[in-house]
Amino acid sequence: MSRGNAPEAKNARRRRLIESAKARGRQLEIALDRARVRAAQAIAPHDEETITAERERSRYVVKTYVHRQTGSRIRILDTEAEDGPRERLLPATDGHGEIMRYAVECLDHDSEPQYYATLKDATKGVRNSAKWCKGCRQTNVPEMRPKVNARNKQLAQHRL
Ligand SMILES: [Zn+2]
Repeated sequence: MSRGNAPEAKNARRRRLIESAKARGRQLEIALDRARVRAAQAIAPHDEETITAERERSRYVVKTYVHRQTGSRIRILDTEAEDGPRERLLPATDGHGEIMRYAVECLDHDSEPQYYATLKDATKGVRNSAKWCKGCRQTNVPEMRPKVNARNKQLAQHRL
């Protein structure tokens, strides 16, 4: 390499260095973006359970059901909802001091409301109303799942 070419070569080297620095910067930006997206996904309440929980937070009457076997109307109340009426049911606590926020009551019979800590358990309570509501128990074909009922019917026919 002659001395005359030296500045040219120097410039070319400088340009390469600048280009590669820019490329590193872009890679770093991409990596940062990815990290931001991951962080956002980690804190965003995007699972269904969380969304449901948030939506139900402000509704006193969560849902009213009609029991498939008894025809009773049973509803779940969120005792901590902000829109509860003045004569609302208040949250109860279980034997260990855990707050049971959801009340389940039968609208057709004069039974005591039942309390549950989670919406899932409250839904189970609706299904099992014959266990805690005397009226539902009397109306009910024994408290069984449809499958079990069908099987028992079949067995009974065989016996005849
Ligand atoms: Zn009932």
